[in-house]
Amino acid sequence: MHRSIKHNRLSHAYLFSGPKGAGKKKMAKHLTEAIFCLRQDGDSCGECKNCRLIEEGNHLDVHWVQPERNIIRKEQIKDLQKKFSYRAAESNHKVYIMEEADKMNQEATNALLKFLEEPPAGVVAILLTSNIHGLLPTILSRCQIISFNAPSPEAITKQLEQEGVRPGLARAAAQIAHDLEEARTLCQTESFAQMRSLVIQLSEDIMERGTYALVTIHDKLLKQEKDPDKIDLFLDLLLLWFRDLLLFLLGQESQITNNDQMEPIQKQALRISQRRLVEGMGTILVTKNRLTHYANLQLSLEDMVLRLQEG
Ligand SMILES: [Zn+2]
Repeated sequence: MHRSIKHNRLSHAYLFSGPKGAGKKKMAKHLTEAIFCLRQDGDSCGECKNCRLIEEGNHLDVHWVQPERNIIRKEQIKDLQKKFSYRAAESNHKVYIMEEADKMNQEATNALLKFLEEPPAGVVAILLTSNIHGLLPTILSRCQIISFNAPSPEAITKQLEQEGVRPGLARAAAQIAHDLEEARTLCQTESFAQMRSLVIQLSEDIMERGTYALVTIHDKLLKQEKDPDKIDLFLDLLLLWFRDLLLFLLGQESQITNNDQMEPIQKQALRISQRRLVEGMGTILVTKNRLTHYANLQLSLEDMVLRLQEG
């Protein structure tokens, strides 16, 4: 793509297609920067005035279109056309990036089609979608389609390990996050390693079947953490831990995520049955679901712990 910028052979419409977290938005930004970059070597330098304005979302010749209440409407396309009828403010190019382009309604699609058929000089369209089947073939035929794949958890793990993250933590982050950047951010969050230690301790307490598990939930989690995203992360880690115990019992040790914690895994797994682990994973999933529906946090977690202990 850099070559086509350098030789001024840009398509006037691109469609980036691929799942969430595959890097479509990042690439759209990168391509846009490359188009406007003052160094004009076909790439984005990330440092010049134009690159920085685009990074901050403040470049006058770059427009982002996003669904409003889950729909992209005709007015948004008209608005775009109006903006693009003026001369470019700072260069010969204008770029618009449409996120979730499949969310256009019929009228918006028709308006965009016309715009794509008769593009003003220097205008580049970048459409993004994770649902290419939601776009009409007439739109697709006017775009150069570029497919993106989400990196596998294995690839993410490998990359994080190369960056110095502890193997078990890297694998856990790769399983939970949607993409490399999210996984990297998780690993850099101080509470991530702490959360995992807490999960291992809670599981140990649950096996003891005493009252410690409830105390642990209260003192170590509820008293310190009210952020729903962090609680959800805690439950994701607990789910992974139960899965690891099950994998150990099934003799599938190579699949284990927290593979730097084999000692506690072995110790705990030998005290619990496969059936209880499977039921436990169900209980954790139900709790995750209840909390997304704003169930009471404390009651839900207490209920979960008691169920995990009963098993
Ligand atoms: Zn630049």
